[in-house]
Amino acid sequence: MTPLENVRLAAHCTLGVGGPARFFVEAHDEAAVLEALDWARARRLPIRVLGGGSNLVISDEGVDGLVMKIALRGVDAREAHGVVELTAAAGEPWDALVQLSVARGWAGFECLSGIPGLVGATPMQNVGAYGQDVSETVTLVRALDTTSRRIMTFENRECRFSYRDSLFRSHEPGRYVILSVAYRLRPGGSPTVRYADVEKDLAAREIDKPSLEDVRASVIAIRRSKSMVLDSKDSNGRSCGSFFTNPIIPDAELAAVESRTGDRAMPRWPLPGGQVKLSAAWLIERAGYTRGRADGPVGLSSRHALAIVAHDGARACDVVALARRIQTAVADRFGVRLTPEPVFWGVGAP
Ligand SMILES: Cc1cc2nc3c(=O)[nH]c(=O)nc-3n(C[C@H](O)[C@H](O)[C@H](O)COP(=O)(O)OP(=O)(O)OC[C@H]3O[C@@H](n4cnc5c(N)ncnc54)[C@H](O)[C@@H]3O)c2cc1C
Repeated sequence: MTPLENVRLAAHCTLGVGGPARFFVEAHDEAAVLEALDWARARRLPIRVLGGGSNLVISDEGVDGLVMKIALRGVDAREAHGVVELTAAAGEPWDALVQLSVARGWAGFECLSGIPGLVGATPMQNVGAYGQDVSETVTLVRALDTTSRRIMTFENRECRFSYRDSLFRSHEPGRYVILSVAYRLRPGGSPTVRYADVEKDLAAREIDKPSLEDVRASVIAIRRSKSMVLDSKDSNGRSCGSFFTNPIIPDAELAAVESRTGDRAMPRWPLPGGQVKLSAAWLIERAGYTRGRADGPVGLSSRHALAIVAHDGARACDVVALARRIQTAVADRFGVRLTPEPVFWGVGAP
């Protein structure tokens, strides 16, 4: 294996910031993943796994180690006993898999249309949107354990999925290289319509019995209106999607937060277990960080207050500094801590 040297990582992530990888390799099969691991170990270098780079903030100094771009491909589908078991290699583009499933009439992914990135990253943060998340369909995750060099298989409950989180993301970060993911879908199943925006879009198109294709079209249209699909012509195009997760607080704290906002219409979604989810975007705007607000070469998307966007000349440190200012404003005004959604390489999470 001969890795490339000094490869510009900004070109490999959607935010378009970040310094070089000292070494860089593309792994097209499982043997290449193992070889890359051994190569890095022999040189005592850290190894970083790169998918589509759509949930990453990479430091301006780059990565002093080996970056392995996941390029494993292959999709297999088996239909039996009224379900489809769909297995995809980690390097398959996620939205192409969604498109294929919708076209075949397999329900379960339709609300996850238009999300950038690759299959292997979907279990990482339990990718979700518009009323679905992958933990509802993932059955098995096949992964290389970088500590033991063994290939492991995780069943759904072993993945410890929760809201934008999993075993792979926060319990044992960096330990596993996901090689493939198996999902269970419902052939001929009805689409999920749980989200008011989706209902509204369908109603506007006078669709009362939506197909999977209809829901996919609505989700993509809504996402596009919020600059939440990748589009190189969009001035909000350089982002990693939502920069913060929606904060979850105990019920007991709700009244205090509401009174600090001075607005009884503050959006909230009750959760089981005495907790409530708030809207990060709403809190950010109320704290004075309105859509489109610029801060040097970075700023907030003009179409969604949750996305930090990078413009020409932006650096990772500018992105992180803005994220910190937003966090401080929301904490000072409302006593709520915002947790960043992306993964940070070489730079402390704000
Ligand atoms: C415009 C836009 C909209 C978005 N909308 C959503 C949304 O609606 N919902 C949502 O959940 N996310 C959303 N995201 C975030 C992002 O697209 C997802 O989190 C996606 O799953 C990241 O995939 P990736 O391949 O780009 O991962 P990367 O950004 O390359 O990597 C993210 C993390 O996963 C790790 N990783 C990646 N692949 C593997 C692997 N095979 N094995 C082990 N670790 C791995 C990386 O090391 C890193 O820690 C959005 C992003 C953008 C830019």
